[in-house]
Amino acid sequence: SQARQFFVGGNFKMNGSKASIKTIVENLNSADLPANVQVVIAPPAPYLEYANNLVAAPTLKVAAQNCFDKSSGAFTGEISVESLKDIGLEWVITGHSERRTIIKESDEFIASKTKFAIDNGVSVILCIGETYEEKQAGVTLDVCKRQLKAVSDILPDWSKVVIAYEPVWAIGTGLAATPQDAQDIHKSIRDYLVTSIGKDQAEAVRILYGGSVNGKNATEFKDKADVDGFLVGGASLKPEFVDIIKSRL
Ligand code: PEP
Repeated sequence: SQARQFFVGGNFKMNGSKASIKTIVENLNSADLPANVQVVIAPPAPYLEYANNLVAAPTLKVAAQNCFDKSSGAFTGEISVESLKDIGLEWVITGHSERRTIIKESDEFIASKTKFAIDNGVSVILCIGETYEEKQAGVTLDVCKRQLKAVSDILPDWSKVVIAYEPVWAIGTGLAATPQDAQDIHKSIRDYLVTSIGKDQAEAVRILYGGSVNGKNATEFKDKADVDGFLVGGASLKPEFVDIIKSRL
C-alpha cells in the first residue's frame, strides 16, 4: 500500500571483507538512492561498526544479523543489543532461516530476542517462512502463524518490526516464489495478523519478500499490494542491489 514505505534489506550472511564491504557501501553512497525507500544492510558482526562509519547515504542504515536476549553477562560469543546501540545501530535481523535451521534457534528464543531488541530501542527485521517439506505438506501458513504467534504472545507493539517472509526453499536457490504466490501468502499473513495484533498494526506492518530476489525479477513484484519490499541475500553483495532498491520507481 501507499502508506507503507518500501523497504529493502541486504543480508550479507557470513560473507565479505573490509575491502568488499567498503566497495558495496561506497557504491550505495554514490547510487543516488530514492529518498522514499528505506535501505538496511546487514554485514557480518565484525564489520558492523566499520560499515556504519562508511555510510553516507541518508536512507541507508546498518543492521546486525543476530542478537541475544540479555544486555550483558556470561554469554560467550553472543551479540548484545546494548553494544549494537553503542556503535550507533538501529536495526537487527532475527529469525533468519539459517539461524532457525542450522543453529537450531527455537520460535521462543527468536521471539524473546525480538522483544528484547524492540524493548531496548532497536528495530527488528523478523524472518519467517516454511521449508520445502512444509510447503509440500501444505502447512506454509500454519508455520508462518506459529512463528509469528511466538512473537505476538509477548510483544504487543509491532511498530518497530518489519516482517520478512522468506520461504526456505527459495533462499539461495535461484527459485524465487512467483509474485502472485508471494502476494497471496503476504495477504494471508496480514489477515492473520489482524486477529493477533489488531487491524491498525496489521495494516501498518511491512511484509518483505525474501528468496532469490535479483535485479531482474524485483520489478515483477511491483504491483503486488502486500509485498512491501524485499530481504535480499546473494544479490545484496552485487551492484544489482541498487536495481532492487529502485525497482518500485
Ligand atoms: C536471505 O538470506 O535472506 C536471502 C533471501 O537470500 P537470497 O536472496 O540469496 O536467496
